[in-house]
Amino acid sequence: MNMAEWLARAAVEAGERPALMHGDEVVADYTAFHARAAAVADALVAEGIAPGDRVAIFMKNAPEYLIVLFGIWIAGAAAVPINAKLHAREAAWILENSGAQMVFVSPALGLDLAGASAVRQVDVAGPEFAQMTLGAPLPVVARGPEDLAWLFYTSGTTGRPKGVCITHGMLMAASLCYPVDVDPVSATDAALYAAPMSHGAGLYAMIHVRMGARHLCPASGGFEAEEVLDLSERFGPTSMFMAPTMVRRLTDAAKAAGRRGKGIRTIVYGGGPMYQADILEAVEWFGPKFVQIYGQGECPMAISALSRADVADRDHPRWRERLGSVGRAQSAVEVAIGGPDGFLPPGEPGEIMVKGAPVMPGYWQNPEANARTLRDRWLMTGDIGTLDEDGYLTLADRSKDVIISGGTNIYPREVEEALLTHSGVREVSVVGRPSPEWGEEVVAFVVGDADPAALDAHCLEQIARFKRPKDYVFLEELPKNNYGKVLKTELRKRFET
Ligand code: AMP
Repeated sequence: MNMAEWLARAAVEAGERPALMHGDEVVADYTAFHARAAAVADALVAEGIAPGDRVAIFMKNAPEYLIVLFGIWIAGAAAVPINAKLHAREAAWILENSGAQMVFVSPALGLDLAGASAVRQVDVAGPEFAQMTLGAPLPVVARGPEDLAWLFYTSGTTGRPKGVCITHGMLMAASLCYPVDVDPVSATDAALYAAPMSHGAGLYAMIHVRMGARHLCPASGGFEAEEVLDLSERFGPTSMFMAPTMVRRLTDAAKAAGRRGKGIRTIVYGGGPMYQADILEAVEWFGPKFVQIYGQGECPMAISALSRADVADRDHPRWRERLGSVGRAQSAVEVAIGGPDGFLPPGEPGEIMVKGAPVMPGYWQNPEANARTLRDRWLMTGDIGTLDEDGYLTLADRSKDVIISGGTNIYPREVEEALLTHSGVREVSVVGRPSPEWGEEVVAFVVGDADPAALDAHCLEQIARFKRPKDYVFLEELPKNNYGKVLKTELRKRFET
């Protein structure tokens, strides 16, 4: 089934409900949202876009994002959302790799892109787009569960990004897991887009469309902590996805302003490691509003979830241990841990493997990567973790980040967690440095102000002696990619000279 059916149904069931909001302003109810998306679809077909063709979106978060996304689907085409923070040259590379025939752009992004790519652009703030939204509505073009809906380019912490083929069937499965495993959704909710819609936040739009909820796009088009607090207070109950670094920033801003996050119902966090010190502080300040998810583009947002109760229920005897996990498998997948000789029992670390309806059929035109990543329909995530007897999954690190020192595996995350409990450490990233004696040795890059000897003593209180850093390097900030993920590859490059 074409996911755009959910919009057509919402237009019938919830036609007069407010659907799209830009800051304070309601810009469309569900009838208008559907009518505009269906008109865009008709215009795309008139341009020669056929089912399966790719149409890109290089836009900041805005209500038009959803009009374009659903318009592309109604026409039976596949969307290629591109992170608005990418450089025009990187966006141009994605346009070329995906074979996109058109790209919808926010005004500020289009100018640079025009110099980098010849792909036909439509500016969503211009008269051409306005005209496109006024035409006759196209009925939803039939699509099957195997058909491509979204080409999702990975954040590419190493090398060129890869295009993950996300099908309509995957989106359906992942979306239906949300109310079951993450958080129930009702028509009175507002989905607030604080994180890029080209990534996980945008994937959460679908279930909110299905339920006839409001879609609240901050006027800034990005993440401003104060704005999120204001909008939530005005238009709550709001739910939103945030990367861990955003949760940190929201907590800092809310504390500084003495605001407790009125109107925020749920913050779903994930996409990178959430350090325990940060989530403890966030829950203490905002209350039990947090749910964690673990996913990757290859199984979007849908591998595991750590429930609100798991995050907040301090009375549970295993609360602390579970807080450090990413929860249990979501309903549509099986999760297993693999070693060189097959599946591993509870407690043993190995590669996290996932199988089920939200798992990708493969990367876009990349058979070598498919052969490495998909085995017997199991997705090899490249993440190392352990499962406990109750099915709670704890992530250690990406396999390529594990440090092997003197033949023993050291998981940087464990060292980072230990260092972060020191008051002088604001942020930290631990990597392996080549060592003639040990193979690799542990080095900590620290943002903060602390005496290395004190950090050493602090580590010795918490982790095994051999795991503690041999060296501390102090930086103003850690190198991060456009999704806020720390670029360990950049840190390791410092050892190359
Ligand atoms: P991406 O495909 O860009 O979304 O990146 C996915 C990767 O982010 C995963 O393979 C993990 O390494 C990491 N990741 C996602 N969710 C979490 C989480 N909840 N905790 C720790 N790491 C995560």
